[in-house]
Amino acid sequence: MRSSPFKKVLVANRGEIALRVICACKELGIRTVAVYSEADRYSLHVRFADEAICIGPAKSTRSYLDIPAVISAAEITDADALHPGYGFLSENARFADVCEVSGIRFIGPSPEVIRLMGVKERARAAMKAAGVPILPGSDGVLETCDEALEVAERIGYPLIIKASAGGGGRGMRIVNGAADMPAQFAQARQEAQAAFGCPDVYLEKYIQAPRHIEFQVLADGQGHVEVLGERECTIQRRHQKLIEESPSPSLRPELRSRVSATLREAVKAVGYTNAGTVEFLMDEAGDLYFIEVNARIQVEHPVTEMVTGLDLVKAQILIAAGCPLSEVLDGPVTFSGHSIECRINAEHPETFAPSPGRITALNLPGGIGVRVDTAAYVDGVISPFYDSLVAKLVTKGRDRLEAVRRMQRALEMFVVEGIHTSIPLQRRILADPDFLSGDFDTNFIKRFGPAAGGNAARS
Ligand code: ADP
Repeated sequence: MRSSPFKKVLVANRGEIALRVICACKELGIRTVAVYSEADRYSLHVRFADEAICIGPAKSTRSYLDIPAVISAAEITDADALHPGYGFLSENARFADVCEVSGIRFIGPSPEVIRLMGVKERARAAMKAAGVPILPGSDGVLETCDEALEVAERIGYPLIIKASAGGGGRGMRIVNGAADMPAQFAQARQEAQAAFGCPDVYLEKYIQAPRHIEFQVLADGQGHVEVLGERECTIQRRHQKLIEESPSPSLRPELRSRVSATLREAVKAVGYTNAGTVEFLMDEAGDLYFIEVNARIQVEHPVTEMVTGLDLVKAQILIAAGCPLSEVLDGPVTFSGHSIECRINAEHPETFAPSPGRITALNLPGGIGVRVDTAAYVDGVISPFYDSLVAKLVTKGRDRLEAVRRMQRALEMFVVEGIHTSIPLQRRILADPDFLSGDFDTNFIKRFGPAAGGNAARS
């Protein structure tokens, strides 16, 4: 890999992903600037960056989401590029615009592409036009309930109403029949307005027992695209991923090749650059349908790194610096073995209530084929202000069984005291016969208790 022309990258994030970006920069010989809120003064990303600037109080709207504060930090420190991580400002097209006009290279797709992908029904239309299969649904935003009823008549129930600006598994409502439509339609619009500041909604066919399968793509600014296989993210709770793996235990090789070939063209057609994830649902017949694009690095990117040996964050930085994909990849992409990631969240394993607090004891598992991405340490505090991810525990084996066995023993050796975590739940999932056989859909988690089965997309 060629060294990057960036001298200094500002990391506009916190927690494990901020550390992850700092690791990539250090290996590329790039200096780093951390930004932090008052609550994060003692965080590891602050400690390991070359420079650190406090950008405001704990509340993220006044710190990590405060565009002028983040841009000022980049200007004061003379950073020539900015990595947004995931969440916070990572998919905010206006922020990417502001970076560009301020002369700071945004490490991600262009503002235009972020904007297109952020409006979900527009992304659907663009992908459809590029030959990617989408679920039957409305052609665009639905203004009235009558319009929704008309579309429903055409495609049949059950349906799902989704917020055009939706994200994070929020703002979805299932409609089982025409009688439900008026109430669900009105509520979906209200919720979309409250959560995302935009009432626009669209309709999609609801798949009762889907699997979630997503493809990792990398594209440079010169029209070269690589599809780095898929991740299976079907083990979810309230539409939030809990376990991810690569390759998927359910995807037919023929379908993988077909979808990868289609995506190579589609990514080019929409002008997508840098790293991105194209998400699909697999229906009961085993066919894939596009649902959305995440125009950023994903939480679960390590499982792709483990099976390809590539560093996706370094790849993002090099692509943003203008490096052609051929140099970033340094030869043909090869896949080996199987990788699994368990998200370790600070939450009660049965009630799923958040469990922030001080970590009093910690043992991180290690050994062959085990990777832990975390910003946790003994005496460190899991703050109630931010998301509850404490660590990503990732294993790799020569095959799925070895990756599973490694995950089982790593979960056993993962000790966190002072807060509750999802480790006990993950251990139960890793012992479940259907998980072990790879036979599951997004309803899988319901067997782990009523709190787990609660569905954010209320019907
Ligand atoms: P978000 O952007 O909020 O994450 P997505 O469109 O990616 O929303 O969907 C998140 C999850 O919601 C999916 O992984 C799946 O579990 C569920 N879901 C979304 N669309 C459908 C659908 N049409 N049918 C069934 N489940 C769906």
